[in-house]
Amino acid sequence: MYIKKDNIVIKAIRGHINKCEPLTPSKHLVTRWHNILNEEVFNNAIHPFKTIEIKRKQDCHADYTGRCKNGYLYGELSINQFFMNKGYFIYTLAHEMVHQWQWMEIGKVDHGQTFLKWKKRFSKFEMPLGVSI
Ligand SMILES: [Zn+2]
Repeated sequence: MYIKKDNIVIKAIRGHINKCEPLTPSKHLVTRWHNILNEEVFNNAIHPFKTIEIKRKQDCHADYTGRCKNGYLYGELSINQFFMNKGYFIYTLAHEMVHQWQWMEIGKVDHGQTFLKWKKRFSKFEMPLGVSI
């Protein structure tokens, strides 16, 4: 499928990725971009995160924890309070959304085959997908 170059995701990434414009995401921004990425990239297959935590992180941009309680699966997102720009924030959120998809669909979170199967789809939106981003 061909994605138009004025697509909202591509436009945001192209407009910000090479800039130095430090960003502290708010929960509102996380939710807004979760909705946009869900619609554009994931065909609305991703459940929202149950909790969103924004804090200073040392070694990573974000992490995802899949939980199970009383037979219900849900996920918690913890995301860095600092990003170099909005592009990196979007890359990171999209990565964590793949983990949410993995947890809800196959009950496992890793960077293996079910993670990497999204790589080709991501590239259509000019987003990398790898272990560190
Ligand atoms: Zn990951």
